[in-house]
Amino acid sequence: MLCPLCGEGETKVVETRLAEDGKALRRRRECLRCRHRFTTYERIHGGPLVVRKKDGRREPFQPDKLRRGITTACEKRQVPTDAIEKAVRNIEEFFLAQGRREVSSREIGEKALEWLRQTDDIAFIRFASVYLDFEDLNRFRQEIDELMKSKSR
Ligand SMILES: [Zn+2]
Repeated sequence: MLCPLCGEGETKVVETRLAEDGKALRRRRECLRCRHRFTTYERIHGGPLVVRKKDGRREPFQPDKLRRGITTACEKRQVPTDAIEKAVRNIEEFFLAQGRREVSSREIGEKALEWLRQTDDIAFIRFASVYLDFEDLNRFRQEIDELMKSKSR
């Protein structure tokens, strides 16, 4: 993408956000030559993010579903609703910003876990116990051990 001001510079992406209800990416770019900043809109073709489930079926990413899962895990914890809302958006944008069109439900779950881990210990453990497969339980146990270690430090 060429800089509209100097017409020559290579640009780097400073920030990527979803726009138009997930149908476009709004990117802030900066020219590496003249430092001019500008915004571009890129249409996402074929709709938003697609989620590949464990059984191999695919469905459109449903923010509501992820929000429900996280909200359930955060029940009676001090996690503000708008923080959950923001986390859901960030998770979707994280993958779209990488140019990903398809992600596995596992990858989404792991991003949610990553966020919960920094947000609320109990919600993190609740979400993990619902979300993780049996095969992941050993890894999860290590996570908890690490978490406890970092708390007692
Ligand atoms: Zn420029």
